Amino acid sequence: MPELPEVEVVRRGLEAHVLDRPIRSVEVLHPRPVRRHLPGAEDFATRLTGRTFTAANRRGKYLWLPLDVPSRVGQDTGNALLGHLGMSGQLLVQQPGAPAERHLRVRFDLGDTELRFVDQRMFGGLALSEGGADLPPEIAHIARDPLDPEFDEAGFVTRVRRSQSGIKRQLLNQSLVSGVGNIYADEGLWLARVHGERVGARLRRTDVERVLAGCRAVMLAALGEGGTSFDSLYVNVNGESGYFDRSLEVYGREDLPCSRCGTPIRRMVFMNRSSYFCPVCQPAPRLRRA
Ligand SMILES: [Zn+2]
Repeated sequence: MPELPEVEVVRRGLEAHVLDRPIRSVEVLHPRPVRRHLPGAEDFATRLTGRTFTAANRRGKYLWLPLDVPSRVGQDTGNALLGHLGMSGQLLVQQPGAPAERHLRVRFDLGDTELRFVDQRMFGGLALSEGGADLPPEIAHIARDPLDPEFDEAGFVTRVRRSQSGIKRQLLNQSLVSGVGNIYADEGLWLARVHGERVGARLRRTDVERVLAGCRAVMLAALGEGGTSFDSLYVNVNGESGYFDRSLEVYGREDLPCSRCGTPIRRMVFMNRSSYFCPVCQPAPRLRRA
């Protein structure tokens, strides 16, 4: 599943390759990825044809591409194409006429290039966001991410410390902070030496700040290396897989020695997924240990 750094890599790729080129045609090859566009696939294609992407933006793991405002006065003012990669989605920039990918779902003909949405499992999708050029209303509830220059760090720390929820659960709460997926949460907690089940209200301000700094450091490192990829289905906008996985300290490393203290890394089930941690560097909360 693509995490925030991968989505940011995609955003940068889109920014470099798909802006300011009129959309000549839109071909929807499967209705499911545009299911959130309620007027249907045909309307989706019609309303995007002839328009131009003017920017590539991101909030958490959502991407949106504002559309130019047509000169005629009409209903389509300040709209945007809103996209989410889901579990296996890819946005690929291809040469016109390049062979179709096996799971090609939507194709945008941009003249000298093509933007393609490829998705095997189709949890992701695209939609036209009405009035969504500045910030699509569909994603306005999603908090900024730790890499966003306008992220409110002090506000985040305060909210975490008012809560009786575990710190990891809070890191994954998109209304508090977006884009910190399971991998980055585990890595950030390990860097900060904080166990993910420690309750927010029992953490010191500096603990939460350290966790946030840890998540941010891992995300920045991943961004520098093109993104983490555990899912061979994921590739970035140029079709290159991320290769950050070799640098991970705890995630996916059950029973391997912690690089700081040598203790075997443990795995526990968490929200139908897994949490990885070092039991020595990240002591469990006292109540749980008893
Ligand atoms: Zn350790």
